[in-house]
This record gives sequence, structure tokens and C-alpha cells, in this order.
Amino acid sequence: MAWASSFNAFFKNFKRESKIIPEDTITLIEAYVEKNKLQNAISVIENALKNIESAPLNIAVTGETGTGKSTFINALRGVGQEEEDAAPTGVVETTMRRTAYPHAKLPNVTIWDLPGIGSTNFPPQSYLTQMKFNEYDFFIIVSSTRFKENDAQLAKAIEMMGMNFYFVRTKIDNDLGNEQKSKPKTFNKEKVLMKIRDDCSEHLQEALSSEPPVFLVSNFNMSDYDFPKLETKLLEDLPAHKRHIFSLSLQSLTEATINCKRDSLKQKVFLEAIRAGTLATIPLGGIIMDEVENLDETFNLYRSYFGLDDASLENYAKNFNMSVNDFKVHLRFPHLFAEDNDESLENKLSKYIKRISSVLGGPVATAIYYKRAYYLQNLFIDAAANDAIALLNNPGLFEKEMETYISMPLDYWE
Ligand code: GDP
Repeated sequence: MAWASSFNAFFKNFKRESKIIPEDTITLIEAYVEKNKLQNAISVIENALKNIESAPLNIAVTGETGTGKSTFINALRGVGQEEEDAAPTGVVETTMRRTAYPHAKLPNVTIWDLPGIGSTNFPPQSYLTQMKFNEYDFFIIVSSTRFKENDAQLAKAIEMMGMNFYFVRTKIDNDLGNEQKSKPKTFNKEKVLMKIRDDCSEHLQEALSSEPPVFLVSNFNMSDYDFPKLETKLLEDLPAHKRHIFSLSLQSLTEATINCKRDSLKQKVFLEAIRAGTLATIPLGGIIMDEVENLDETFNLYRSYFGLDDASLENYAKNFNMSVNDFKVHLRFPHLFAEDNDESLENKLSKYIKRISSVLGGPVATAIYYKRAYYLQNLFIDAAANDAIALLNNPGLFEKEMETYISMPLDYWE
């Protein structure tokens, strides 16, 4: 099987911090492949996929009332401040308990709103116990002014528990605006940012005795300041099997985020193709039809990961005073399956399988189907990612003909 010899080469395409399976798992699979123990290799891949698919992500966000914690949580979740299920902003916190907020698109991702340690009067250890510290993947400590001594003490306690924390300083847009107003002649953005960062760091270092990770953000512009850096750092620090879901959860729109989603989805689809390749040797009609029915849905999901779902496009179009249809003309993805537009992709693929099946018989047809589905998924990931990047770089104009990069040839795992 060609996939075996290509496995190594495929994963070399991705940076360490964007790999969705751990390095030692990749090494193990390669070792099995070398010894020609393909069945063992595949079962390791199946397990890795199970881990990725079932991985929950729980993010704890703590900070005092008024720091912008709720706005930050809504930004992470991809929920507008005015939407019904938004974390309430601009209200004084009264609860001493944590509140769970689900991600708008990913049911496995939960963001937990923890009351600020200062408002609970708990010492750090009891605070962490009360807040069920061991249920989170990491902590984010939010402040809009100087971090307080008890924020630093909390970080220390989190570290002692062997967990990761990150300091987020919000409302940077306000600081810059004020500074510019008060010192219009000498205002220097980078200098102001550096001063705020140094001030936070120095203050925290006194309590922490190591350099703490501080990120300056504006909750109203996630693609600016340190928000992208925060995302990259979190991605790096997470265990590999959680990177896939985290990268899909990212809401900021930068080329780095889009490429990160593209990388992650490509790895997932590659692993699934290997898994499906083994199934293809067994004639399992039921499973195949189920998969086909899900394809349309899969493609719609890809669109939403890249901010190309109908609702997002409507928003974009509105901003440019265009109709969604006028807008779509400039994007690549709506034309991917355009030969006969009135037929759904699902129908097309079912027909395709039936036709091939009648000529070649079940198992071979299945293999061909999966190959085609794999090819289409890659094509679609690239089209969606390229569309998203084009929108980002050139929101009004789509003059440049976009290329579609198909990194994997059709016969990849024959
Ligand atoms: P919480 O009490 O910590 O949950 O804070 P909220 O999220 O309710 O925010 C308090 C106020 O600060 C609200 O009026 C927000 O609109 C505003 N706010 C939050 N984050 C930012 C930010 O990054 N920049 C600016 N300029 N205002 C912010």
C-alpha cells in the first residue's frame, strides 16, 4: 500500500506544533510500517483518531468583574455580545461558582467562566479545589489593569499543580487610544505596548520568580495585538491530540489561523483515509452509504470552520453592500461542484458509487469511492482556506484567479 511509504513524508510537511498526533505515535507507526506490520500501524492510527475525535477541551478563564472577562469568553466562543446565549457583559458578578459556556460550533469545547479569586476570598489552593482545577486544559487569567498580587499567587498555585496558565491583559485598544489622545506628538504604538507588557511582567515576576507569559489583547479585534500569539502559544503547549479541536475553535481571522486549520484538517482527512482504506477491503454497504450522506454536511462544516458559512458570508456581503450571490461569484468553493449545480454533492456521489459498483463490485467500488472522497475533501479544504485568505487580504476585490493546491495526488494510497 502506497500510504505506508508516504506516511513519513506526509507528516514531514507539518511543523511540530501543528501536528495532531504525538511525535512518538508517528515514530511507532513508522516502525510498524518498516517491519511491514501494516495492521499494527493501522490500529495505532485508529486509536490516534479516536483520541482526536473524542478529545474534550476545557478552558478556564478567571478574572475580576469589569476586566472584560465575559467579552473575552464570547470572543473565544465565536458568540456576539448581543446574541442570546452570550456570557452577560457589563454586569457585576455575584456568583461564587463557575459557569460553563459552550463553543458556538464545537460541542467538545467548553469555556468556563470562573469568579475572580479576589471576589471569593479563598486562598489559592482552596480556590483551585472549589473550581475543580484538574478539569481544565489550561487557565487564562484576565486583567484590564495591573495584575493583582492574588492573580500572581493563583498562577503560582496553578503551576504547582503542574498546569499551564497565561496572563491576558485586555482593553489594549483603550490604552493606545488614550495615550494617543494625551500625547499626540510623541505617541509611539510599539513603545506604549512594550511599556504595558514590561509593567505587567515585572509586577508578576516579583511573585512568580520566572518570566510569566503575558498577552496584550483587544477583545474587539482578535486578529490584532497579541491575540494571534496567544493562540499559537496555546496550540504549541497543548497535547497533540487536542490541537485539532483547538485549531478549529479559533475565531481570529489571520493567515496563520487559516493555515493552521488547513494543516489540521489535512492531517485528519489523511488519517481517516488510511482508516477507511482498510474498511474498503470489506464490503460494508451500510457504512459506506452513511458516509456519503455525511459528505455534504462535512463540506458545510469545513465552510463554517473557515468563516465561509452562509451566515458569515451574509455579514461580509452586508459590509460591502453586496448581495450574497454577487459575493459568492468571487469565491472558489461554490463553483467546485458546479457542473450541474442543482444536484447535491451527496446525490452525485451516491450515483457515482452505484455506477462503479455495478461494473466492478462492492469492495473495489468502495476503495474508489474513498479515494474520490479523500480527493474531494482535500480539494475542498484548500478551496475554503484559499477563499478565506483571499477574503482576508482583499475583502473587496477578487480579481486574482485563485489557484487550488492539491497536495495529494489521487493515487496516493492505492
Ligand atoms: P467582565 O465583568 O469582566 O465580564 O467584563 P465585561 O466583559 O462585561 O466588560 C466590561 C466592559 O468592558 C464592557 O463595557 C465591555 O464592552 C468592555 N470591554 C471588554 N473588553 C474590552 C476590550 O478589549 N477593549 C475595550 N475597549 N473594551 C472592552
